[in-house]
Parts: sequence; C-alpha cells; structure tokens
Amino acid sequence: MKYIGAHVSASGGVENAPVNANAIGAKAFALFTRNQRQWKSSPLTKKSISLFRERCEEFGYAAEYILPHDSYLINLGHPEAEGLQKSRDAFLDEMQRCEQLGLNRLNFHPGSHLNQMEVEDCLTRIANSVNWALDQTSGVCAVLENTAGQGTNLGYTFEQLAYIIDKVEDKSRVGVCIDTAHTLAAGYDIKTVEGFTETFRHFDEVIGFSYLRGMHINDSKKDLATRVDRHDSIGKGVMGLTTFKMLMDDPRFDNIPLILETPDESIWSEEIEYLYSI
Ligand SMILES: [Zn+2]
Ligand SMILES: [Zn+2]
Repeated sequence: MKYIGAHVSASGGVENAPVNANAIGAKAFALFTRNQRQWKSSPLTKKSISLFRERCEEFGYAAEYILPHDSYLINLGHPEAEGLQKSRDAFLDEMQRCEQLGLNRLNFHPGSHLNQMEVEDCLTRIANSVNWALDQTSGVCAVLENTAGQGTNLGYTFEQLAYIIDKVEDKSRVGVCIDTAHTLAAGYDIKTVEGFTETFRHFDEVIGFSYLRGMHINDSKKDLATRVDRHDSIGKGVMGLTTFKMLMDDPRFDNIPLILETPDESIWSEEIEYLYSI
C-alpha cells in the first residue's frame, strides 16, 4: 500500500502537523520539529508532545509514515571545527525531539564541503557525525536525502550515499530518502520508463531498497543534470507523468512515507488524490 502525504506546517506547535495532514487527506506526513531557519529553538513542551502523540493516534499516523526533516542550517560535513560542532549539537537536538515524539526516522541533507575539503573527507566526516549522534540516542534512524548537487552539497550520487552508509556503524539506524526532483537535477533520467527502471536498478545495486525509508515526490522546474534544486507541482514541471505512474505502480515504494514538497500547498489534497488515481 502507498502512504502519500505532504510536508505540512507545524506552525503554532508540532501538535498541529497531524491535524494539517488529516485535513488534506494525507496518509503520511513530514514536518519540522523546530524552526528550520534558526539555530536556537525552545524545547518541546510536555503538552505539545502529548497532543502530538494523541493526534497521530487519533488520525491513524503510525511512526513509520512520519518523516521529520531537520533544519537547513545543519552541515554534518562542515570543514571547520566550530561550524561542525554547532551542526552536530543541533542535529542531536533534532534526534532527541524525534525520540520525545515517538518518531523513528529523521530526514536530513548529508552536508556540504564548502570548497574547503575533499569530497571523500567530507563524506567521512558526515558519517562520523551520524555515528556521534546515534551513540547518544536510540530508536531513531538517520535518513540521508539525495540532493540535486547544488553548490557544494554532497549526496547527489548513489555512490556518495553508499560511501556514508558504509562508514556508519549501526546499519539498522541509517537509511535514505530519495527525492524525485533532486534525482533528476542530479543527472538521473527518471522521466522515461527505461530511465526510471535503470535508475532504480542502479539504486538497488549501489545502496539497496532495504535502506529506503521514504521518498519525496516532487516535479522539478529544472531539467536533467542541471544540479539546481527547484521543486514544482506534480505534472507542472519538466518531469512528465511517467515518473509518478512508474512509482505508484511499483511495490518497492510501498509502506514508506511518500511526501509531497511541491510549492502550491493549496492543491496538495488534489495532488494526493491524483497520485492515488494513477
Ligand atoms: Zn530535503
Ligand atoms: Zn526533498
């Protein structure tokens, strides 16, 4: 079964996210558990935590179908000691918030070398950051998202993600989230039947479907191999509908959160309905 939802607003408190998800007919959802553009955030209150848990139960959202996303400021591969520690501390806080909310996965962008270190050194540093955070938490899986490869962002090839996974000690607590828009922009032609088939054959060979903990279902404003990250609504970008039909038809994408991060939230319920209809 497919669990489709969207990255919904948690403004006013994390407890509002399941309400917002339910309102658009989502079977899964993503959220930020703290302000994604600030370093400091006040702790979750007991009331927020218990309301979040109650509402997830009320609306039928099991932890397997909730995919929190970390702050965009965090860079677990930061080349400088101070920036790295700040990122690690914030990432640990995000992991602990997931623990408090009863969630079992945290989606994040691997990191950026900022033109100050070699690619492999940065990937190793990211893996070390993940190990550091996993050591201090339990039950939450670190979910690496593939990127478009914009700027100095790493994680835009399956090999880079596999390189990180290989260096994470607890393989049961590391996974990946594949974003369709990032995949196309990074150079994987998932627009055609042949391209989609080959891309996910390659994914299975290099990483393996057993590591897939979620998908971001986005059309893209930017075409193949542009290395630019710009999402579009389903069917409105350059992707075409083949990608989404292939995905909906493929049982390898069953039973994981499939999250829309498309720009027009007023049509999320229609997009969800449309995806189920194909
Ligand atoms: Zn993301
Ligand atoms: Zn994404």
